[in-house]
Amino acid sequence: MILPREKTLSEDQLKEVTDIVESFNCSLQTIIGTERSIYAILGDETSETMVNRLEGLAYIDRVDRIQNQNKLMHRSSELSRHKIRIGGVTLGEELLVIAGQCTVDPKNPNLFIETAHAVKEAGAKVLRGGVWKPRTTPHSFQGDNRSIETVLEARAQTGLPVNIEVMDEDQLAIAMDAKVDMVQIGTRNALNYSLLKKIGKATKDNGTLVLLKRSLHMGKPSEFISAAEYIVAGGNPNVLLCPRGTAPGLDGYRNHPDESITPLLKEQTWAPVVVDPSHSVGRAIYVPFCATAAIAYGADGVCIESHIRPQEGIGDDPKQSLTPDVLKDLIVELGSLWSLKNKFHRA
Ligand code: PEP
Ligand code: MN
Repeated sequence: MILPREKTLSEDQLKEVTDIVESFNCSLQTIIGTERSIYAILGDETSETMVNRLEGLAYIDRVDRIQNQNKLMHRSSELSRHKIRIGGVTLGEELLVIAGQCTVDPKNPNLFIETAHAVKEAGAKVLRGGVWKPRTTPHSFQGDNRSIETVLEARAQTGLPVNIEVMDEDQLAIAMDAKVDMVQIGTRNALNYSLLKKIGKATKDNGTLVLLKRSLHMGKPSEFISAAEYIVAGGNPNVLLCPRGTAPGLDGYRNHPDESITPLLKEQTWAPVVVDPSHSVGRAIYVPFCATAAIAYGADGVCIESHIRPQEGIGDDPKQSLTPDVLKDLIVELGSLWSLKNKFHRA
């Protein structure tokens, strides 16, 4: 829909606008209103270039598109019937809990194995563990290739599928060789379109799920959805959207909790939403509140940092990891909320 600055377009302006629209195989329909006329674009109006050319005209106020640019992610897409399964859970039908350490400590691999057994016992369905870590300073621990073996050993012992974060193509290749079940794109790479494309292609045929975190600096939900669109366009529809808090944080919280965007994401896409309360609030004492809020907002699952003995952990674990006993109680609570939510949705 083209909205002119003045009440109506002059004949010359109408010709110029019509020529642009037609060069993109669309046509124009004038809708004459009492206050002002508007001009509907008929045809595929998703071209960014067409919109930019129209909005570049001094006499055009703006172009509002009815068609969604995120056509693969959109609820109306064929993919809305696509079911994503992992760890015996069908997303949307049962609650998904991903849990495990922020960071695998290469000096203490047995801690991770212990954590893996404990989170399984607590009710987690997917095991998380950071092999490589995106750290704010280069002087902090960056991760260790050897930890992939620890993660695989934990998978073999517990039978839990595993999630690890990848930050570049080399790590992606190692993760694909290891046949990890889920790759995580962290908040720092959620806007790295080149990596998103590569991940979409690399995970195209092997059933790997992609947990896409929301960028620290993402604005509108549509920006988040567009990032996911890259992965799906690369060929992999097994994408989970993960709000994890945005910057700047609230006083006392690590980030600004954003589980509240869940209904907006669900309205606009078919993709499951799995909220990460750990990075959102950043302190173990607040995590259960944020996790329950996420389920109340309609999330399909949560991704929670948990460690057998947080004080012996590294990375985020000492501060924000739940002990497995707290995790267990929380999962029970989330399960009760989940059944309430389902009743509410059916009503
Ligand atoms: C993590 O999951 O440990 C992590 C670093 O996540 P994020 O990218 O959300 O900060
Ligand atoms: Mn972490």
